[in-house]
Amino acid sequence: MGAVLMQEQGHSDAVIGYFSRKLKGAETRYPTYDRELLAIKNAVLHFRYYLHGQNFTIYTDYASIQHVLLQRTLSICQVGLLDTMNHFHYEIKYWPGARNLVANALSRRPDYRDEDVAFLTMEYAISAGAKWRMEVTSRYLEDPYFGSVVKFLARERDLVQEGGDTSILSKEFEPLVFQRRKRFWMEDDLLFTRRWRQDDSPREDDTVLCVPRGGNLRYQLFHEYHDTELGGHFGADRTYELLAERFFWPRMLPSVKSYVKSCDTCQCTKPGRTTPRPLMMLPVPQDWWSRIGIDFITKLLTTDSGNDCIATIIDHLTKRVYWFPMKESTSAQEFAWLFVKHYVRLHGLPSIIVSDRDTRFMSEFWQEVWANLGSKLKPSAPFHPQTNGQAEKANAIIS
Ligand SMILES: [Zn+2]
Repeated sequence: MGAVLMQEQGHSDAVIGYFSRKLKGAETRYPTYDRELLAIKNAVLHFRYYLHGQNFTIYTDYASIQHVLLQRTLSICQVGLLDTMNHFHYEIKYWPGARNLVANALSRRPDYRDEDVAFLTMEYAISAGAKWRMEVTSRYLEDPYFGSVVKFLARERDLVQEGGDTSILSKEFEPLVFQRRKRFWMEDDLLFTRRWRQDDSPREDDTVLCVPRGGNLRYQLFHEYHDTELGGHFGADRTYELLAERFFWPRMLPSVKSYVKSCDTCQCTKPGRTTPRPLMMLPVPQDWWSRIGIDFITKLLTTDSGNDCIATIIDHLTKRVYWFPMKESTSAQEFAWLFVKHYVRLHGLPSIIVSDRDTRFMSEFWQEVWANLGSKLKPSAPFHPQTNGQAEKANAIIS
């Protein structure tokens, strides 16, 4: 099963994420209808951080799925699947599979091919996915690298279909093309390859789409994987890594480097500033638990153990939250100890803490955290004095 999460952005759709996995065990014996529901459920759960509280549309190429909500009698399996879906605001629409861009590409990865696969595309809006794909297909032939490979594969396919002799290909094509074509294959008019290691052996399960030169095809990808909120303006290496997981073209790294070099936003916000800028938009953190928000819910009724305050710690990437009780009068030193006990032992030290608590409290707290860990260093405080929207949102859930 495969799914792609897309978001409408202006005139085009941006890919937010991909999801795919094999059917396992009893799932392979599900009727088609249930398998499709299962795919939807899995994909929605996979993307739940983006989908919770949003209205979204699920596109599927299995027509009768869209009537699932109107059905009167449901199997136990279906009830279970729909139960999960009750937490989301969605509608289901039919979208014929031929136009079902990435989900099909994912589902048809060679290693999944033996499975009977349910397809699903999930989007906030239709259109550009199919447009982008068509442009990819139309530009292969004029591409200096992929052009000859595509011609070779097409010619070979025709010869095989006609029962002709494929050995004449060695006369029609240069040896270089012969060598190259082994790495590629066509599916639905798209050219795929695998990621290759330095020593030329294929990696496992890393199918990537070949993107030809021309038009805005590669530029659009740069934009998606670097400029957007999710791209997060990472450096060239990280941007390249993200792209190379899904796409291929010759000399990809240099092209990514020159794009990132020319990015205005990156030029203006190079790291190295020592004073935090309070109103700066924080970029999306690169890692789990690397940037956290700390906030306190105060003025609560005092419990038997004397606590009247709740500390909230939220991870800015995953939005996962920890809450623990404390006293409003808790000193920075005591809070440091609680922080180590409830947080550091699980996730280690964050690189940035966002909090609107006063700087003196936070600095004392931070020194004490390090002291608790046995360090004699006096580390500079990684605080971002900014309204801590995410922690406040989390607070709203329990208050
Ligand atoms: Zn940038």
